Amino acid sequence: MAEPVRLLLVEDVATDAELEVRELKRAGLQFEYEVVQDEQAYRRALAEFRPHAIICDFSMPGFDGMAALALARELAPEVPFIFVSGTLGEEYAIRALKNGATDYVLKTNLMRLPPALERALEIARERAAKRAAERELARVRERLQSIFESLPDVLWSMELPAERIEYVSPACVAIYGRPPTEFLANPDLWLECVHPQDRAAVIEARRRLIEGAGYGVEYRIVRPDGEVRWIQDRARLVRDAAGAPARLDGVMRDVTEMVRQRERLARLARMRDLLGAVTTTLMRPRERQQIFEEFCRIAVARGGFAMARVVLREADGRLAVAASSDESSGTFRRLIEVHNADPQAGRSLLARALRARQPMISNDVRNDERIPEREALTREGNFSLAILPLQVEGEVIGAVLLSAAETGYFDQEELALIGELVGNLALALDLQAKQQRLNYLALYDPLTALPNRTLFRERLAQALESCASRKTTLALAVFDLDRFKAVNDTFGQGAGDQVLREIARRLREAVGDVHRIARLGGDQFAVMRPDAGDLSQAGGVIQAKAARLFEAPIPFAGGEVRMSARAGIALFPEDGADADTLFQNAEAALKRAKETRERFILYAPQLNARVREQLELERRLRRAVEDRELFLHFQPKVELAARRMVGLEALMRWRGEDGKPISPALFVPVLERSGLILEAGRLAVELAAAAYRGWQAKGLRPPRVAVNVSTLELRQRDFVAAFLAAAGGAEGGVDIEITESLLMQDVQASIAKLRELRAAGIGIALDDFGTGHSSLAYLSRLPVDTLKIDHSFVRGMTDNAEDTSIVTSILSLAQALRLTSVAEGVETEEQARLLRLLRCDQMQGYLFSPPVPAEKIEELLGAPRPASGG
Ligand code: C2E
Ligand code: CA
Ligand code: CA
Repeated sequence: MAEPVRLLLVEDVATDAELEVRELKRAGLQFEYEVVQDEQAYRRALAEFRPHAIICDFSMPGFDGMAALALARELAPEVPFIFVSGTLGEEYAIRALKNGATDYVLKTNLMRLPPALERALEIARERAAKRAAERELARVRERLQSIFESLPDVLWSMELPAERIEYVSPACVAIYGRPPTEFLANPDLWLECVHPQDRAAVIEARRRLIEGAGYGVEYRIVRPDGEVRWIQDRARLVRDAAGAPARLDGVMRDVTEMVRQRERLARLARMRDLLGAVTTTLMRPRERQQIFEEFCRIAVARGGFAMARVVLREADGRLAVAASSDESSGTFRRLIEVHNADPQAGRSLLARALRARQPMISNDVRNDERIPEREALTREGNFSLAILPLQVEGEVIGAVLLSAAETGYFDQEELALIGELVGNLALALDLQAKQQRLNYLALYDPLTALPNRTLFRERLAQALESCASRKTTLALAVFDLDRFKAVNDTFGQGAGDQVLREIARRLREAVGDVHRIARLGGDQFAVMRPDAGDLSQAGGVIQAKAARLFEAPIPFAGGEVRMSARAGIALFPEDGADADTLFQNAEAALKRAKETRERFILYAPQLNARVREQLELERRLRRAVEDRELFLHFQPKVELAARRMVGLEALMRWRGEDGKPISPALFVPVLERSGLILEAGRLAVELAAAAYRGWQAKGLRPPRVAVNVSTLELRQRDFVAAFLAAAGGAEGGVDIEITESLLMQDVQASIAKLRELRAAGIGIALDDFGTGHSSLAYLSRLPVDTLKIDHSFVRGMTDNAEDTSIVTSILSLAQALRLTSVAEGVETEEQARLLRLLRCDQMQGYLFSPPVPAEKIEELLGAPRPASGG
């Protein structure tokens, strides 16, 4: 309900006031009123009665109308003021209106008063409404302003087509480091702040926006203090009524943290990629130097590091650069010189990392006092630095230095990945060292350090080529010591070893070039002599030399012995045009020498009796296989710690016509050469499975039986299916053993088959390990679960440091690859003890049991278990 209109009448003549009131009432107006006639009452009424309109007599004796008007304008400026007067000159009227009166009415024409009042009230109401609206608007504006000012984002508005900035919110102080006024004063400043590399993109984005495309760009800005921040800028185009582009309104957000986080994740992904690359690259066998160089190259190319460097520690603790991604920088050289000035007690980050065996990080090289040359380093773009010690077999051999072009680069997660990376580098070095050792084993006889048969054969082939082109002869002598077995048996193996070493020494002395000599195995040696002249000449020289070789007695700990030898000699080109033929014929001659007890036999074609012998053997073997005369013996594999039988090896046996056993070392090669091994091998698997079933049928709990498989068998396309059929699947209890050196001939196909077998649950052992030249890289990929250390190393390990270290390194390799290790040919307690110390898992050999018939195994299985220790 609207309140009634309140009128203030300023009138000194009571009847006039009444007339006015009557006039207004007659016009139907609803109102309350007060009449005042002096200033004091007037003031009070203005304050207390609060009139909606003032009707004032112009001329009063006590109180001047103009003064009333002035007071009203001062105290109640919104209230309409109407003069009523008997006479009012035009001049006064104008003055009154000028001074703020709303209207005037002559007393002679009071009829005009009601419409004049109504109009005045109307105008006053409109004005009041307008003022309220204005106040509201001001409040809204103020609120928005306060919101804009508290927003962390920068709001901006740009007038088009001038591209002049009209508004920038105060957040630009925090983000840009500049107040809004600077942007308003300099329209180009905005673009000047954009990182030079991003400007073209920003201009392009804005152009497209004006053309009507959406706008959202991310770019960098450079603050006055040089700091770079990332901005995400989004805007929209506002058009005028005619549809022309009028304005761009936008929001800029500081997304530096978000971008850094994103970059960090990308970097971590890159690191993982790098890790994969390094792992696959480094695990290929290669030279040490190459490993370092590859590492540095990949770290920079794939890992995004500014610099990668490997330094190695020399014996005196000084460092030397082994490889680096940036040859030109002298700064790192100086850094290393600083370290070398005091390698033991240095306080640099590098010295600390080496001493503490811990990675050391600097995420702000510029301000890190632990880093010498830090100014030069940052100048060359190294803002973060990680130094990781390189440890191989527990020893710090050097360090890896990686740097990045930003501060704050290395965090925990990244560091863990880099640690893994450097760990892989160390593993590659470790494997490479072991590989070298095994390569050596593959080509040299560890006892005498002479080339072995493999290396000698290769050298022989080379020499023959050269002799062929020079049209000269070459004599090959293969010789065998007399009574060496007797020396071994009488004086012990140590004495035998000493004799072999001494003979090797004398041979080296006599021949000069170690690569013309070989220890073929056991007590057999070979010597080649290029440019040997004719047959009789060559024979004469060799005999003379040999005589001198064996002239002096050979001393060993506890005595001395006089040795002699028999030799077979073959001459190139008469007795053979290639290395293999020459070898065969020299060996045939040797065999003949032993039979005839002659000291030296020169090869003669009739000596091919050996070949005939082989053919005869093959014929008999074929029949034996057909008649299933081959049978198996079983040799236990024993857990070293508990001395408990945990496996069996099936070994093939054959008796000749006279009923005497013939060694598989003799007949297995014939089986292989003739292809009979395929049938024989199948027979072995069937027999092993049958034996296993037989034991089970008797209520025993036999361990699994491993059957030897030759590569010829493994190469059969259907080997896996055939084996599984013969063995009765994995539950048949049959595992396999494969000779390491043979496996390496056809790696890819073999791996696939072995993998299949293993997936089917068949155990796979790598036999005679250490004698072949397994590439270690392949070894780690081979699907095998057991390594069998060749008995030749086991035999020598208790009194020969070389052999001990070979066994040690094979065992640590097995442990690293998590393979079960089995030592072959363990004959003495001493060997067993040492193997146990070296954490070998199982042993096999005469010490526990020779290979025995199946019935004997039954006894072992049935008998109460032998106590451990022993
Ligand atoms: P291998 O696989 O290395 O077998 C181990 C050889 O060491 C066996 O010789 C075994 O009798 C012998 N041995 C075991 N303990 C000792 C010990 O303490 N001291 C010594 N000095 N020797 C020990 P064996 O039975 O004469 O077999 C010789 C090789 O013939 C085997 O070497 C294996 O390569 C091959 N062979 C045997 N049976 C089969 C077979 O069924 N299939 C194939 N493909 N090869 C077989
Ligand atoms: Ca074996
Ligand atoms: Ca073996």
